[in-house]
Amino acid sequence: MDRIRDRYHAVSFRGRLLLLLVAVSLVQVGVAAYTFFDLQSKPAEQRVHAQLNAALRGVAPVVDAELGRASDRLRTLQDDTALQSAIEGGDWAEAGALLEDPAAAAAGDTSASVDPLATGTGAPAFEQPAGADAAAAQPLSAYVTDADGKVVAGTRPDGALVEQAGRNSGRLVRGSRLVATIHVPVAVDRAFLRDRVAAYVPKGVDVFVADELNVTSSAKGADDVQRRPSGLREGLREVTIGGTDQLALTQPLLDGSVLVGASMPAKVAAAQQHEGLSALWGFIAILGLMMLGVSWFITRAVADALRKFATIARELASGQLDRRIPVTGDDEIAVLSESFNDMAEHLQDRIEGLVAARASMRRQVDLFGEALANATDVEEMLAAVCSLAMESTSATHSRFWTLDSEGRYEHAACIGLRPGDSEPCGLEKAVPVRNASVLGEGEPHWLVVPARMRDGQIVGLLTLVSTESAFAEDDVRIAERIAVQAAVAIDNARMHEQLRLQATRDGLTGLPNHRALQDELTKRLEEAYRSDMPLGVCLLDIDNFKRVNDTYGHPIGDEAIKAIGRTLAHGVGGMGTVGRFGGEEFVVIMPGCDADAACRIADRLREDIMTIQIPLEDGGTLRVTSSFGVANVDQQRARVDNAEILHQADVGMYNSKRTGKNRVTLAGPDTVVLEMSAAEKAKLAAREAGDTAAELAAAAALETNAPEPAPYDPFDLAA
Ligand code: GH3
Ligand code: MG
Ligand code: MG
Repeated sequence: MDRIRDRYHAVSFRGRLLLLLVAVSLVQVGVAAYTFFDLQSKPAEQRVHAQLNAALRGVAPVVDAELGRASDRLRTLQDDTALQSAIEGGDWAEAGALLEDPAAAAAGDTSASVDPLATGTGAPAFEQPAGADAAAAQPLSAYVTDADGKVVAGTRPDGALVEQAGRNSGRLVRGSRLVATIHVPVAVDRAFLRDRVAAYVPKGVDVFVADELNVTSSAKGADDVQRRPSGLREGLREVTIGGTDQLALTQPLLDGSVLVGASMPAKVAAAQQHEGLSALWGFIAILGLMMLGVSWFITRAVADALRKFATIARELASGQLDRRIPVTGDDEIAVLSESFNDMAEHLQDRIEGLVAARASMRRQVDLFGEALANATDVEEMLAAVCSLAMESTSATHSRFWTLDSEGRYEHAACIGLRPGDSEPCGLEKAVPVRNASVLGEGEPHWLVVPARMRDGQIVGLLTLVSTESAFAEDDVRIAERIAVQAAVAIDNARMHEQLRLQATRDGLTGLPNHRALQDELTKRLEEAYRSDMPLGVCLLDIDNFKRVNDTYGHPIGDEAIKAIGRTLAHGVGGMGTVGRFGGEEFVVIMPGCDADAACRIADRLREDIMTIQIPLEDGGTLRVTSSFGVANVDQQRARVDNAEILHQADVGMYNSKRTGKNRVTLAGPDTVVLEMSAAEKAKLAAREAGDTAAELAAAAALETNAPEPAPYDPFDLAA
């Protein structure tokens, strides 16, 4: 089955169509041919039969008439007493002479071909068949047979003999003894048939007469007398007579021992029967060829159309979007071509639309990426979001709202809307609103989309307005995507801000760290020199802090550092910048403050620190003091940098320590460190070099050499 199917598919579509059409045509031609043959063959057969029947009807009366003549002659012979005595006397020679037909004798010719009537001699009167001519008066041979059937007088003629006992053969009986039999047979030979019968027989038909032994036929080429063919019987038969196959219609004569028949060569009969068939065959052949031609044209037209479709489709697929099938006429192929062209048109529109959309999208992504890359703050990035949302949807205006820490929406960026305006819908609940037309019929369409983070937290709202058309499903999806991107960007920006803060803030106090202080100082120094303004720098260190740690533990020490940080930040306020410089040291930068003002502020801060009370576990309170060093740009002989001014402040702070701690010392470029021992110098050098280990070691050495310190009493210092 599969093999058949494979073979079926191996033939092209056109081949299969052609096969189908040819098969259908053949069936139709076959049915038509069968019907034609059927209709045509019966009359042809009947025509042949009619011819044979007519011939038969012609021959039988002639033979019958001849039989009547023979019967008359028999009577004459039977009445001939001389003949009787000759037979009874056995004088066969005399009898033979008496048997001579007087008609033939008168003509002096015994030839069977001689017509006695033509010679004008008398002949027994018998009814002539209509149309019978002078040839009817043929001499009749007679002969006598003895009791044993042996011919004893006269001659038994050749050919098929028509003889009927009592009619043309009579017995001569003496007593009960059969003496002899007189025969006057009708000898049917070719001449008889040709001359006597032919006139009654249709042209092309032969006639014959057959007795039990012989058959005589008028057929051309046949012998005068032939043996009777075995298959010759009554009715329509095919028999061989005279060496040719004949179609013969035979009927019995007399008692049936003699048959009369009409025949025609089987070939002629067949030709007659099939007469017209060649024309029919020709017609069928022409019909078949026409159908083949039509099938060929149909299949060619269909195959050509399909090939054209395939070619154009391939060209379309390869990107030649303007290719179309030429439409001719208005048949089904034309309709199909039109549909195909419509499809190609839509395809072209769609692809061109997609290409344009892709180009626009790429442009937007580039813009967005550029905006993100260049955006120094969230607002700039959100402006890019608004622009992207407008380009990608049918919006004519857009705005982005951010959600602040208190849950209020704040205008962040907008295009086409005024920052002060408020949206008519959707904001309060952060509900997505689509095509809300709160202002009434024909008013702008609104699309409000929340910007959610992955955890569902809403960080903003994207509101789009269209004054031209309602927002489509596609617009909503795009806006939602953009809002998600915005949420991610906001989150990233916030995280970035946090990291930035972490990098510049001290973890314990939340104040600017060492690095941020250095940056700020660089900036402020530049600013001071640029605008020729004073700048105060103050450095402070908690007094005896090592001992605080040792006595109350590190956590309490940390609490003290935090409390001092808070106090300093509060005390400085907007006048300057406070930061943790490292360990238990702080720096205050005071732009615009001359040396005097800076010292006054430092002293106030020192007093503020003295008011700090840190609760202890045992219910008591810890108080701390700190020593300050102040340096100022207005004290310098030359332009100073960070390191130089910080060094001066450090010298001031160190001198505060040397002079009893919990005080403020102003230092300048010429200030020297007071009476420093070698160990103290080492500690200072280590600290300035940032070598903590060396600094600690020097501090330890100082402690060892120092006289036993008085027990730590913060209230002492505070007093
Ligand atoms: P002086 O009055 O001369 O300043 O004496 P001091 O004990 O304060 O000496 P110094 O300034 O050299 O001591 C610094 C000590 O501060 C050493 C260290 O244990 C402590 N310290 C530094 N950073 C921290 C901190 O973050 N937390 C705590 N609890 N202690 C710190
Ligand atoms: Mg210190
Ligand atoms: Mg200290």
